[in-house]
Amino acid sequence: MKTKKALMIIIDGAADRPVQALGGKTPLEVAKTPNLDRVAKEGICGLLDSLAPGKKGGSDTAIMSILGYNPYEIYTGRGPIEVAGVGIKLEKGDVSLRCNYSTIDENMTILNRTADYVREGTDELEKALNEQISLSNPDIKFQFRNSADYRCVFHLRGNGLSANITDADPYHEGEKILEVKPIDGSREAKKAADLVNEFVNKSYKVLNNHPVNLKRKKEGKPPANVIVPRGSGETPKMENFYQRWKIKGACIAGIGLIKGLGYLSGMEVINVKGATGYIDTDYIGKAKAALKALEKNDFVVLHIEGTDEVSHDKKFKEKIEAIEETDNMIGFILANISKDVILTILSDHTTSCDYGDHTADPTPIVIWGEGLFSDDVDIFTERAMIKGMIRRIKGQDVMPILLDAMNRSEKFGA
Ligand SMILES: [Zn+2]
Repeated sequence: MKTKKALMIIIDGAADRPVQALGGKTPLEVAKTPNLDRVAKEGICGLLDSLAPGKKGGSDTAIMSILGYNPYEIYTGRGPIEVAGVGIKLEKGDVSLRCNYSTIDENMTILNRTADYVREGTDELEKALNEQISLSNPDIKFQFRNSADYRCVFHLRGNGLSANITDADPYHEGEKILEVKPIDGSREAKKAADLVNEFVNKSYKVLNNHPVNLKRKKEGKPPANVIVPRGSGETPKMENFYQRWKIKGACIAGIGLIKGLGYLSGMEVINVKGATGYIDTDYIGKAKAALKALEKNDFVVLHIEGTDEVSHDKKFKEKIEAIEETDNMIGFILANISKDVILTILSDHTTSCDYGDHTADPTPIVIWGEGLFSDDVDIFTERAMIKGMIRRIKGQDVMPILLDAMNRSEKFGA
């Protein structure tokens, strides 16, 4: 049998619970999605528990699982994945954290967790932080890098560090930045915690009166005047994607999270200009890059983040729009995809617009391609999927099913 290639489109947090303001319908049920519906009608459908039934995942653990890794064995926190996502090559013993540019007052109380999604001027802020801050321990090297928009990363390298430390981020506006503390009482964790606290305090001194922020204040915008780290973790041991599945993989994403999983698993990471990680991303640009990447790779994962972002903000109207934009992108892909490519589309977890966070409800998955079955499902919604042939599977079932659809699975037995 001729082997095939595969394109996996992950629409982050696209699945929802019934939304009150939509009369109990979900954004996927309300959005006009002729292309998603076509794929559902022509392909095989089902529901996906990215971790397991009732287990609520973050995007990182959910997508690790969907790419065929066991997050319960290898996950060490989101920090390292985000740090890997900016292209820093992680080593054993490193401590990695993800951060936000935030707005605080002089009492270190968070007024705006994302400095109103700050985007402009962050290159200059990044430069200033790296040039003007030195840490009190000269044996430890730090790197601070921007990721996307208000997201950034902080990385420590040197002997005798432990990542076992708490977050500086209180996660709620109106609360003070927390002092980072060692979780296990070890000297190594204390050393890392002290350095992170030092960086947070120094970041405020560098940023508060930086010209970029003086301009923001003048324009009535919240200044990006502090770096707030969280999600500390050691470097995870992630097996190389090619070694694991014997297929060459590439990934396209607007946010560091997916790029990080790509780098950590040794995939080709393709940066697309205009891919923002928000609802204003260049959908068609990403689609074109994915189709091009399929020429040289066996497997391409294309990640859309905007749907999740607006769900966390409880913006169901924007979620419907983001789903429709994604649908339009899928239309472009369907018009241009080669016949030897299997397409799979899924949501990595549910993000409830009413609740503003992830839930453990299972999410839609469809696998589509020439020579595969089609089933009785003809729309891409949470509710319709259970009638499909895939029924209900776990995240780690996805790659084996996909490899079989690609005629690349190995036979067990004679
Ligand atoms: Zn997600």
